[in-house]
Amino acid sequence: MSSKSLTIVHLYPELLNLYGDSGNILVLRRRLEWRGLEANVREVHVDDTPSFADADLVFIGGGSDREQAIVCEKLLRQRSELTSFVEDGGALLAVCGGYQLLGHSYTMGETKLEGLGLVDLYTDRGPTRLISNIAIESPVCEHPIVGYENHGGRTHLGADVKPLGRVLYGNGNDGQTGQEGCLYKNVVGTYIHGPLLPKNPGVADFLLARALERRYCNASLEPLDDSVELAANKGMYERLMSGNVQEN
Ligand code: GLN
Repeated sequence: MSSKSLTIVHLYPELLNLYGDSGNILVLRRRLEWRGLEANVREVHVDDTPSFADADLVFIGGGSDREQAIVCEKLLRQRSELTSFVEDGGALLAVCGGYQLLGHSYTMGETKLEGLGLVDLYTDRGPTRLISNIAIESPVCEHPIVGYENHGGRTHLGADVKPLGRVLYGNGNDGQTGQEGCLYKNVVGTYIHGPLLPKNPGVADFLLARALERRYCNASLEPLDDSVELAANKGMYERLMSGNVQEN
């Protein structure tokens, strides 16, 4: 039994798992285990009442508008607990539909879905879907973050919320500002599927370090051999930046 362990709460894997988003959990688990640390992954299913009291890292994947509405209604009941978790520096990763839920609202035509209000941002649905491969540069990791985006929503950040990064290829939050995702305290919101973490191990370690720091006051992580992951990252980045990729 290792001395250090992190509890990872995976919200509604059966509803929010577009483009293999649940693969992010495998990466978090493995990167802890490869370092001799323990991962306690707790899945929260539709009929469960989630608790964040002992959570170290929370993951919310992406989903269709319909699934998002179901999840949102459930999570709104836990809003104050989630707010305390975030304000206390809890690490949270939310992808696409999950990212949109972090904000004040998601407006789809006449329908306005109330969000969790954890981060000062809001989303409305644009006239087209933004579907593309994507690459961004971000202060959370040394290498570009690469992946895939497919969203109708356009997300607008409040003045004090930083983006996760700057778009190098693709659309990001709204296809216009060059901003992608959000970074607020230890919350990472992003439109990047992939799943995100296998090709971007720096993002995984950013989140794990934040969670370890909060739990054990020590953010140090033993380096791992990421040569395979980084080769995949580099291959995709170079292909996108070469200008030879045909999107749709
Ligand atoms: N329903 C959202 C949108 O289309 C999110 C989709 C997703 O998670 N890929 O904007």
